[in-house]
Amino acid sequence: MTTLLSVYFFIFGLLIGSFMNVVILRLPVKKDLVKARSACPKCETQLKWYHNIPLFSYLFLRGKCAFCGTRISWRYPLIELLVGIIAFWLMPDVLNAESIANFLFYFSIACIFICHFVIDLEHHLLLDSLNLYLLAIFLSFSVIYFSWEYYVIGGAIGFGAPLVVTWLFYKLRGQVGLGGGDIKLYGVLGIFLGPMGVIFTIFLSCFVGALIGGILIGLNKMTKDKPMAFGPSILLVAAFQIFFPHYASIVQSWFF
Ligand SMILES: [Zn+2]
Repeated sequence: MTTLLSVYFFIFGLLIGSFMNVVILRLPVKKDLVKARSACPKCETQLKWYHNIPLFSYLFLRGKCAFCGTRISWRYPLIELLVGIIAFWLMPDVLNAESIANFLFYFSIACIFICHFVIDLEHHLLLDSLNLYLLAIFLSFSVIYFSWEYYVIGGAIGFGAPLVVTWLFYKLRGQVGLGGGDIKLYGVLGIFLGPMGVIFTIFLSCFVGALIGGILIGLNKMTKDKPMAFGPSILLVAAFQIFFPHYASIVQSWFF
């Protein structure tokens, strides 16, 4: 039973991952998510249903469009596989209303994080719509489980601190440090992670961002006109805090 259930959760993850590929492709360019059928980006031929099976289509097409032979990015099967594994990993031991609600809570956070991550890498955009979804999910959880001081102060610090720093940076150096999307994301995270949690997010993500930036400069992958997207650093740190709270609190205790 558990094995069969694991397979169902994995397949559920693959299907959602497949939909997330559509979201990542269409949301930043404001295309309809449901109406338009999938087509090859190169030859624009509409795909058949059997070209849309998560993971397997990529394998039996050997990573090429069935019509024009253009290479299909490995990003698609990778995201499908990743979301499949996450669904499998988050699968509750016992199925009841509470454990399923819990699963959906963490699973949707993971899905939005992945969309945010890839879209920011590609377009340097943390979309308001995705931040709003996160806000709705976090707020509904925090209102039930935490005191109002926790999420109000957490949100205020998450939004306020980076805003002030960015503003000072702009006044002093005339440069915009963080984008508006980054600041809103910190604010939304503060609602769930609380005051200390979000201070740690800000602190560690700046560290991770500086580290990644340093590596990219070292590899000659980053120049002045091609700055680095900062969202992925925030998302990596927040994912660490949300999905591995035990390890995150150990790391946090090193600093605070
Ligand atoms: Zn094609």
